Amino acid sequence: MSKAQSIHQEAVVIDGHCDTILSVMTRGSWFGVPPRDFFERNEQGHIDLPRLKEGGITCQVMALYIEPQYKPAASARRCLEMLDAFYDLLDRSGGEFVLATKAQHILDAKAQAKVAGLLSIEGGEAIEGSLSVLRNFYRLGVRAMGLTWNQRNDLADGVGEKSGKSGLTDLGISVVKEMEKLGMLVDVSHLSESSFWGVHQVAERPYIASHSNARALASHPRNLTDKQIEALASKGGVIGVVFCPPFVDDDRENVSLSRICDHIDHIVKVAGIDHVGLGSDFDGFGVTPGSPQVMKDVSEMPKLTEELMRRGYKEDDIKKILGGNWLRVYEQVLG
Ligand SMILES: [Zn+2]
Repeated sequence: MSKAQSIHQEAVVIDGHCDTILSVMTRGSWFGVPPRDFFERNEQGHIDLPRLKEGGITCQVMALYIEPQYKPAASARRCLEMLDAFYDLLDRSGGEFVLATKAQHILDAKAQAKVAGLLSIEGGEAIEGSLSVLRNFYRLGVRAMGLTWNQRNDLADGVGEKSGKSGLTDLGISVVKEMEKLGMLVDVSHLSESSFWGVHQVAERPYIASHSNARALASHPRNLTDKQIEALASKGGVIGVVFCPPFVDDDRENVSLSRICDHIDHIVKVAGIDHVGLGSDFDGFGVTPGSPQVMKDVSEMPKLTEELMRRGYKEDDIKKILGGNWLRVYEQVLG
């Protein structure tokens, strides 16, 4: 076994974002591809349980993404349906796929060679403006929430709002405070810049960007400026690098595993080694067959470790990037 393989095998590997729940729900995904079996090895899409194991993933964060057609009025119901689909996967996994609600659950999964799933809401519409609903999602195991997707909602402005100047609403501020009280991670990926700074001002605990890259290397507005990266790191947070091609490079032809490592290098340069992790967004984007990509699917994750080694990262630092940094924040915020 190569040194890279043994580092990857020993490491707690955490991927901070995917849209796989949508892909396996009976209603199918927003890409119009048929739903697929989570327990069989598929060639389609990016993630299923066999490929998570091949990729050496210890914990996969699973997004509860509220599609636009459910907003705003049916957002909580849709989120509950997705939670039901997730719990169905746990039930049918024969104990191989387990819920993580705190850091220790991820360490337990590693020790038992299982895969853990951590639940994260993508789009604060899900709580329908109610802190009670938020608390009930927490009771159901949800441990993170992105306040918006790309649109404006009653909590904040998303990155897709062209005016985007209004930042967090009063309700958004209450939600951030309640999430910190409960022990939930506030996720700033998809927020407009003014909303980001609103969270930064209010946050007393580390907050995260589950799937965003560095704007210095790819100009997409979903990526973070160096000032944002510094600010997030100053509160102890983590940025998960995202494999979705438009966030990796402005020129789609330059999208590659090496280019995603350039983003890791850049975030390390700006914020230090303790604030970068993985946030693939697997199953959240499609790739035209034959066009350049970071990796084919999650089973290829060990290639990332090889590339980090090639770039001269030390073993301890590679393990931080693969999951150690996420784990530290989970310990701090989730308990
Ligand atoms: Zn997203």
